[in-house]
Amino acid sequence: MSSNPMSISAFDAIIVGGGHNGLAAAAYLAKAGQDVLVLEKLENPGGAAVSAHAFDGVDARLSRYSYLVSLLPRQIIDDLGLRITLARRRYSSYTPDPADGSRALLVDNGDEAATAASFAAVGAPDGEFGAFTAFYAACRQLTEALWPTMTAPLLARSDARALAARAGADAAWEAMIEHPIGQAISRELGSDLVRGVVLTDALIGTFARADDEDLQQNICFLYHLIGGGTGDWDVPVGGMGAVSGELERAARDAGATILTSADVTAVLPGGTVDYRHGGQDHSSSARWVLSNVAPVVLDRLRNRPATVTSAGAVTSAGAAAGPNPNHRREGAQVKVNLLLKRLPRLLDGSVSPEAAFGGTFHINETWSQLDDAYRTAAAGAVPSPLPCEIYCHSLTDPSILSPELQAAGAQTLTVFGLHVPDRLVTAENNEDRRAELQAAVLASLNSVLAEPIEDLLLTDPDGRPCIETKTTLDIERAVGMPRGNIFHGGLDWPFVEDGEPLDTPARRWGVATDDPQILLCGSGARRGGAVSAIGGHNAAMAVLESEPPLRNG
Ligand SMILES: Cc1cc2nc3c(=O)[nH]c(=O)nc-3n(C[C@H](O)[C@H](O)[C@H](O)COP(=O)(O)OP(=O)(O)OC[C@H]3O[C@@H](n4cnc5c(N)ncnc54)[C@H](O)[C@@H]3O)c2cc1C
Repeated sequence: MSSNPMSISAFDAIIVGGGHNGLAAAAYLAKAGQDVLVLEKLENPGGAAVSAHAFDGVDARLSRYSYLVSLLPRQIIDDLGLRITLARRRYSSYTPDPADGSRALLVDNGDEAATAASFAAVGAPDGEFGAFTAFYAACRQLTEALWPTMTAPLLARSDARALAARAGADAAWEAMIEHPIGQAISRELGSDLVRGVVLTDALIGTFARADDEDLQQNICFLYHLIGGGTGDWDVPVGGMGAVSGELERAARDAGATILTSADVTAVLPGGTVDYRHGGQDHSSSARWVLSNVAPVVLDRLRNRPATVTSAGAVTSAGAAAGPNPNHRREGAQVKVNLLLKRLPRLLDGSVSPEAAFGGTFHINETWSQLDDAYRTAAAGAVPSPLPCEIYCHSLTDPSILSPELQAAGAQTLTVFGLHVPDRLVTAENNEDRRAELQAAVLASLNSVLAEPIEDLLLTDPDGRPCIETKTTLDIERAVGMPRGNIFHGGLDWPFVEDGEPLDTPARRWGVATDDPQILLCGSGARRGGAVSAIGGHNAAMAVLESEPPLRNG
């Protein structure tokens, strides 16, 4: 591809992939005066942080993949002048008791007494609400201490630990960092249901058990609690596309060039990037190449083979020298978007659907159900019941619906089904598996409703029900996340082990590969996972720290 290129032009930085992280990196670098080219394969930038008209002829712009924001630092919003609104939800979670759907746990941040009563109503042991509150308060001591480090040069483990100790978070460090998080959850909490609610934070997008020794579930748990120091998950007003849209605007306003429908075909040594655009091959070069694509995708573009380790994960030649040995870890979810005529009635008559769907709605996610589901999936089958969590965007932010849909009372639902590892999905079975998973999600949902969800689905102008289901393979095909892993691969601690080299800006910022000119700027960077723009910020900081400021001084 690099022979006979249509054009050769030089930039300070080329960013491979225009996901929200690539856009953030572009905005920072362009603001610092660098000449930046972003190459995005799809027609629109944003990657997995986008809104879409998912149903033909229906004016509802759904957050198609990611939907809630926790990890986007205020500092990045301010630095880049992003005009986004993140709405806080009153209700934390609602969890029906699978043994008796007429009772449920409602964690209401606005009503402590009602929440305490709700713990009792689901048969939690005496003192469970206090233990639950104390557990999260202890976790918060650690997350508040570590959060500011996410956008700073990496700490070594012992320095991070010392920071935690100064914040009085020794116990939380032990529980969250040193031992499988399942130990602390089962030690501090007695109810199967309450334990399950807590454990889900360790399992979103991660195929793991509570007691796994490799601690992937702990890292996932930490990321779910660390955002803003508080772990609040907020609703992006206007949908996730509004977040990427603002990052795109900031990058363009600062002078970055963003080329869409530009498919990068090779990343070559010396900062050369080949791509196809407008039916022709092009080649551009830069002093820096920032990879917003997953590390495994970068390896393919660099024509480097990947190797399987004994643990089943695959590391690659590039990964070996980079920050994450875990890049081929599979995704483990099914995502379903629905548009409803109205919210469904619940089996539990004591809570309004608005309250139940106002926070995260957990279904079939008790501790033992999660473990059963893991074992079923590990044995090669779709779990039944399928653990699911649901979120209703339109209750908090109706602006994603047309005025007509709003007036008619329509609501969106997003379902994230857990423990569906990518190994269950193949190119051959994807269609059938998608149908099976959709049926499993609907069955799980219906297990807590007083009426079938199918009856409430709106239809598009051709009479098709407004429901779309995405397997891990669908997600890989749509946005290039390897094996549908929503974080581009396994997550890493937000610190390095003692003795790991921090001798270059790229290593200090957790964005290094084995080529000093190529940096990771996406979810695959250390600390880059989720909608946070942290990967983009940190890669840009590494570039700017590596060289004197350019034109804008
Ligand atoms: C179903 C789902 C639900 C999620 N829910 C949440 C949530 O609620 N909150 C949250 O914080 N996170 C969530 N996540 C995770 C989050 O969306 C991602 O971690 C984040 O969007 C990754 O951003 P990124 O910019 O690093 O990469 P991506 O969004 O993956 O962007 C990479 C970009 O590179 C492009 N690309 C790929 N190959 C090429 C090529 N050869 N040439 C040019 N361009 C290329 C892709 O098209 C894409 O636009 C979810 C993810 C999924 C899939």
